[in-house]
Amino acid sequence: MKAFAMRKIGQTGWIEKEAPVCGPMDAVCKPIALAPCTSDVHTVWSGAIGDRCDMVLGHEAVGEVVEVGRMVNDFKVGDRVLISAITPDWNSYAAQEGYAMHSGGMLSGWKFSNFKDGVFGEYFHVNDADGNLAHLPEGMDLGAACMISDMVPTGVHGAELADIQYGDNVAIIGIGPVGLMSVAASAIRGAANIYAVGSRKNCADLAREFGATHIINYKNGDIVEQILDLNRGPVDKIIIAGGDNDTFAQAIRMLKAGGRIGNVNYLGEGDTVGIPRAEWGCGMGHKLITGGLMPGGRLRSEKLARLVMSGRLHPERLITHRFNGFENVEQALMLMKDKPADLIKPLVLV
Ligand code: NDP
Ligand code: ZN
Repeated sequence: MKAFAMRKIGQTGWIEKEAPVCGPMDAVCKPIALAPCTSDVHTVWSGAIGDRCDMVLGHEAVGEVVEVGRMVNDFKVGDRVLISAITPDWNSYAAQEGYAMHSGGMLSGWKFSNFKDGVFGEYFHVNDADGNLAHLPEGMDLGAACMISDMVPTGVHGAELADIQYGDNVAIIGIGPVGLMSVAASAIRGAANIYAVGSRKNCADLAREFGATHIINYKNGDIVEQILDLNRGPVDKIIIAGGDNDTFAQAIRMLKAGGRIGNVNYLGEGDTVGIPRAEWGCGMGHKLITGGLMPGGRLRSEKLARLVMSGRLHPERLITHRFNGFENVEQALMLMKDKPADLIKPLVLV
């Protein structure tokens, strides 16, 4: 089969590869819609997970089932399916402990374009099909459906990790597609003021539509000062969906004692993350820092699909560039790398 791959750190290209083999609990799918992720950019150009040779890229897809294993109950050839970017082993200890995304070792639920070939191939393999696929709801926009792979569950997970409650004043650092979904999720969970940090105008406009009450441009000065000033003091909760290792220091400085930080940002470079000692209450400020890979799985995809179909969540609004034809995944990934001002998220219809 033909596939678009990471050839080595810093290099991508088209390759020929054997089509995947379907195990008894698995499915093989072909893509209907695909999207590149900022994580693919970290993987290829920052070498964030180490080197990979001819690994097929991509983990965001909507697909059609072309083969199922003999133990798969709920999916058959021809079904159109939502596919979670994170595909845990649901019968693992980690899953029983509530951390299925780390089944097989830390971050090991993230298999596509990490431990195995991703979805930018003519065919791709899904482990534990009954646990990791969901039926594509009739009438769902394919852009929205593709965002249920990763952007929606990750953004929502930021709001879960930060434990956004009604009436909370919340800062959301980063309003790319992930942070924008965190804005929408925080609004749904009842946040009061939402301070959304970014610089691109179209992201800021969409953040306002999704529920941000204030837009903070990190290029216009220290975000801590801007947010403390607007909020007249520290915020209750913070979601980090952009920035770098130093962003934690800013987050600690603008968080109240007893507050909570939920990080979903992928820290792709450097050895350490700095925490300012005094502002962390010399270690005693009850400023909780959490960070997580989003949970994958069928139940979550189905619940998020319900939110979309009920009209409460509009992930299709993230799509700024639509392409027709599999070969355009390359161009779409380059857009994700270069982040032109008018881009939020590209989508490729296969
Ligand atoms: P984008 O690059 O599209 O968005 C990043 C955002 O951060 C932009 O709004 C950008 O602003 C802002 N930003 C950049 N630098 C700073 C800074 N110094 N201070 C404050 N804000 C800054 O990324 P995505 O939304 O696609 O993804 C966000 C992160 O989530 C990535 O690291 C991605 O790898 C990760 N991720 C994590 C997953 C998980 O399971 N935890 C799953 C999927 C993705 P500007 O407007 O200037 O661009
Ligand atoms: Zn991703």
